[in-house]
Amino acid sequence: MKRNVLTCLLGMLASACLVPATGHAQKPTAKRALIRTNAPPRTQGKARNIILFLADAGGVPVLHAASLLGYGEPRRLGVQQWPHLGLSETSPIDAFVSDSANGMSAIVTGVKTRNGVISQGPDAVRGKQNGTPTKTVLEYAEQHGLLTGVVTTQSIADATPAATYAHVDDRRKWGEIFLQAFKPRFGDGVDVLFGAGRRQIGEQLATAGTSFDQIGRTNGRPIHATLGQIGAGETRPVVVGEAMDARAATLKALDLLQRSPKGYLLVVEWDAHTDDVRDGLQHVVDFDRLIKEVQARVDLHDTLLLFTADHSFGLQVDGGRRGEPLLAGYDEWKAAKSKDDIVRLKNVLVNRTHTGEEVAALAIGAGAERVRGYFPNTYLFDVMMKAWDWAPDGAPPR
Ligand SMILES: [Zn+2]
Repeated sequence: MKRNVLTCLLGMLASACLVPATGHAQKPTAKRALIRTNAPPRTQGKARNIILFLADAGGVPVLHAASLLGYGEPRRLGVQQWPHLGLSETSPIDAFVSDSANGMSAIVTGVKTRNGVISQGPDAVRGKQNGTPTKTVLEYAEQHGLLTGVVTTQSIADATPAATYAHVDDRRKWGEIFLQAFKPRFGDGVDVLFGAGRRQIGEQLATAGTSFDQIGRTNGRPIHATLGQIGAGETRPVVVGEAMDARAATLKALDLLQRSPKGYLLVVEWDAHTDDVRDGLQHVVDFDRLIKEVQARVDLHDTLLLFTADHSFGLQVDGGRRGEPLLAGYDEWKAAKSKDDIVRLKNVLVNRTHTGEEVAALAIGAGAERVRGYFPNTYLFDVMMKAWDWAPDGAPPR
């Protein structure tokens, strides 16, 4: 590509160096657009805000297939355009394949643990004995006075969101997990909490002798059933619905968190399990579109966007041609097979289990340059802490 060397040497218009010579002058507006697209802002330096996007079970094969489903071509997702990529290894301490509990706990605490355990050390015995609580990035953010938010398409007490704010020895303890959101160890706890799971959490709360109403009254925070019930003046809303519109929830959370004088942490989980391969891949396409919207609303000079998965999933594209439907034959397969069968389509194989290979970690914005190479998922904790320039407890001051 030819550059306008003379202009560069004169230094009259440094940005012109980035514009390909086309044989005629470009309009300034077109030039600015090209620079904005091709030259992400310098990412060295400190992050004020961090947004962690977690595609649950969205490993490399799922991202690839989602691009094919959504756009008919590989590498068309917005996150696949981000400049920084690493491969994050997700295993628990004692096995090769992770569940969401260990996978997310390791990312947000920097400590690998056992499957089923929520942000406790490997001294935990699942369902039998609590382990040492491991401090999460959300707790560090609360301690430092940032606003924090957790949004999920799944139950707000499910393993992935739970790992950010709770510490329990068994991911199935939804009532206990949910109650911990209101008994924070640092700061005033999660400020914005939007997710699903209302019926199941409610049942466990009833067994424990409490209810959404009672928790809401005790804490002065009503626990709404829909986003529409949030009052105009509410700054720390909690919504536990039967389902959750992740796009509406994320944009609402961002509106609230962006008012923070000191910055914020937002964690957004979207389920990307591909047991139902069409739904799962469409979730990834939709999540990616939402991430593009969020990216347009933040300043990448002071905000780190991080995208990853808690573990991978057994999906392979092993056939297909450009111009033909990726999921050809899926409706017929669904009609003929049970939901527990391995999915064998003409072009796609889904074995319906979590798998052990590394997942993509993608990053853009302040501190994103640290995401590179193969690393354990615990390194993503370091990436976030270093982006904020915070030393973890017990580490020498930075
Ligand atoms: Zn998971």
